[in-house]
Amino acid sequence: MIQHLFNNFAVLTIEVLLGGWLLRKFTDVRPFIRRLFIGVISGSIGILLMLFTINLSNTVLLDARQIAIIMAANFGGLPASFITALMIALFRVSYFGVSTAAYLAMASAFLMAFATGWISTKVHRYTLKWLFMIGATLTISVFTIYLQLPEQALEALPAYAFFILACGIYSMLVLGLQQRVNEEHQIKTAFTSLAKVYYETKDASEIYAATLKRLMELFGAEFGTFCIIQQGQLLLVLRIEGGRQERIKRLVPEDAQSRQALRTRKSVFYTDWNRHRPHNPEDDELYRQGVRSSAQIPFFHGDKAVALANIGASKAGTFSVADEMAFSFLSPLIGMGIAHKNAEANFQIISEATSDAIVIADKAGRIIHWNRGAERMFGYTAGEVAGQSLTMIMPERYRRAHEEGYARAAESGTSTVMNKLIEMYGLRKNGTEFPLELTINNHDRTGFTLFIGIIRDVTVRKLVEKELRESELRHRRLIELSPEAIVVVTVGRIGFVNAQALRLIGASDENDLIGREVLDFVHEEDRDAVRHALQNVTLESEPLENWDSRYIRMDGSLIDVEIAVAAIPYHDQVGVMLIVRDVTERKQAQMKLEAANQLLTDLAVRDGLTGIANRRHFEERLTDAWAHAVQHETTVALLLCDIDFFKNYNDTYGHPEGDHCLKQVAQALEHAAAAAGEGALAARYGGEEFVLLLPRGNLEAALRAAGTFRFGVAELAIPHSTSNADDYVTVSIGAASLRAVAGRDPGDLVNLADRMLYRAKQEGRNQVIGAD
Ligand code: GH3
Ligand code: MG
Ligand code: MG
Repeated sequence: MIQHLFNNFAVLTIEVLLGGWLLRKFTDVRPFIRRLFIGVISGSIGILLMLFTINLSNTVLLDARQIAIIMAANFGGLPASFITALMIALFRVSYFGVSTAAYLAMASAFLMAFATGWISTKVHRYTLKWLFMIGATLTISVFTIYLQLPEQALEALPAYAFFILACGIYSMLVLGLQQRVNEEHQIKTAFTSLAKVYYETKDASEIYAATLKRLMELFGAEFGTFCIIQQGQLLLVLRIEGGRQERIKRLVPEDAQSRQALRTRKSVFYTDWNRHRPHNPEDDELYRQGVRSSAQIPFFHGDKAVALANIGASKAGTFSVADEMAFSFLSPLIGMGIAHKNAEANFQIISEATSDAIVIADKAGRIIHWNRGAERMFGYTAGEVAGQSLTMIMPERYRRAHEEGYARAAESGTSTVMNKLIEMYGLRKNGTEFPLELTINNHDRTGFTLFIGIIRDVTVRKLVEKELRESELRHRRLIELSPEAIVVVTVGRIGFVNAQALRLIGASDENDLIGREVLDFVHEEDRDAVRHALQNVTLESEPLENWDSRYIRMDGSLIDVEIAVAAIPYHDQVGVMLIVRDVTERKQAQMKLEAANQLLTDLAVRDGLTGIANRRHFEERLTDAWAHAVQHETTVALLLCDIDFFKNYNDTYGHPEGDHCLKQVAQALEHAAAAAGEGALAARYGGEEFVLLLPRGNLEAALRAAGTFRFGVAELAIPHSTSNADDYVTVSIGAASLRAVAGRDPGDLVNLADRMLYRAKQEGRNQVIGAD
């Protein structure tokens, strides 16, 4: 019997260990499947245990089947223990045949299943739970034996109770030990496998998935979500449910539990949702799906919360405060891993988004990071350059200096080129060179130095700069050599002057002018106009051209200038460029020309001796006046005047004196014309004969003018000793007025006046005779 007992314990040990191992697997399935699986496995163990029955007496058989039921209840709760009981009962009936004992055994098995299942949901502390379950199965077994064999019950009880207790406690210890060993092992496995994943996996979301899966495996969870924390917000990235993985990216609000977990830096446990559970809409849904135990685990990196895992199991008591130890063991690794991956993911985003090339090399100068920008810039893919020397992307001439400098930098950790903008040339895959700008930083990552180069292709910028330099030079030369004076004004003050402008204003040095108000050099009367132009010309407006103005030179003298004004971009401002041309000479030439022109016109219309209008001019004016009078049917009047005995005057006083006399008489006639009103014209008709034209005059006006003239001549009182008319120079005047009608000629008017003059001469001179 002792041998049997040992056999039985050996079988029990194997089965408990094997069963325990099997039952801990398969967490990646739906709760229902898992419970079914636990039930079936436990059922099979129960059947096996029944096969190693110990015959206590001929009638009392001992076996450890209840251990299978307890295991089922322990791992899978009530549903699992029922399945186990069902299998045991069916086997009992099919193997030993139908009998009262079989029915009792069946009833006993179901009773045990119910009791242990119920206890497992109510009691969560391992030892207590097992002791309760052992006690329950013992009571039911004893009761069953009593019902079956009342007389033998008392006799068999001690051995029976001892056997059941021994089996139960033994199994409890073996399983507990296995569980602890297993947990420790799992934590270690989780730790190493996570470390491996963190090191090897590039994709941050893979990291999240691996982390959550490991955690769930470790604690036997079937539900899990994983949130990363970015800028203090919870970003849900992953959900695992009954073996199904779903990648998400959704901000979720903080609830009371997550807030508590993040604040206290401790996991928040809900051991039995039937008694106490979080009440969020999502948790209500989880409750419906069967979650009965949950843990919310925060992860930190330094002071910063980086992630929050939420795991749940369908069995109450899966998570308890005791697990905090395990979480706190893993937490630093996970926190660091996630933080690192987040940082790496952020770096990756920046690295791929920038058009700059980002190249990272190790201490030996081998390329270990090569972003998209670098691929585009140099033409190599990341794969082609991985592990290659940096020298492959620089022209031959730089390589030696680079290698020496790099070795020095790797040795000492510093370099003269560190953190500076370096200009050099890069070498593309196709062998062409291009100008680049480079900054190098070093980064000491856990003891080994990395060199980070950020490279910008400056081909276009260099070209533009060259173009700009050339264009600037061209413009400067143009301005320097310009024959025009050029002044650039910003905000009213002189900012630039060329040599011509210095000369124009009469300054010896440009510093005498720069910074001074341009209006100081403009003539007072022209200042408003120049100020207006300076204020109103814009980069969009057309230049103001050829515009006369007067400038004051340094010595105070005035010069006439012509200026053109245009706005130009000038040192990040809008400047006004004044192109100033000295037009003093031109102005003077212009004035001379005008005078000459005036002279010419005067010569054409004036009588050379007397300065009054000549006969030609008179005739033109007479024709015009006549035409006008014809149109308006008005009259034209005319005086024809002749100096009396002028031949004698010449003879007496000499010709020059005669000329002088003619001038005086002409002046007198001019006065008479002025007195006669607008339009009257005095002219020398020839020799000592004069005319006075009154374009709209009648005879009366003509006689009045003749009177004025004669009076004027008399006032001159030019002595004339050889005149038969008077002692002084006198004139005879023929006055005439004619209505201008078609068919008449201005000649008629002259003839009429001439006839009247003739009569005045006839009738003794020094008189007026008129007719109309
Ligand atoms: P009257 O008219 O009274 O009949 O006598 P008169 O002596 O004035 O007449 P006549 O026509 O014979 O003389 C005109 C003179 O005027 C002749 C000429 O010497 C003189 N004469 C004409 N033109 C000029 C001139 O430009 N200067 C001078 N000094 N004399 C001139
Ligand atoms: Mg005459
Ligand atoms: Mg005369």
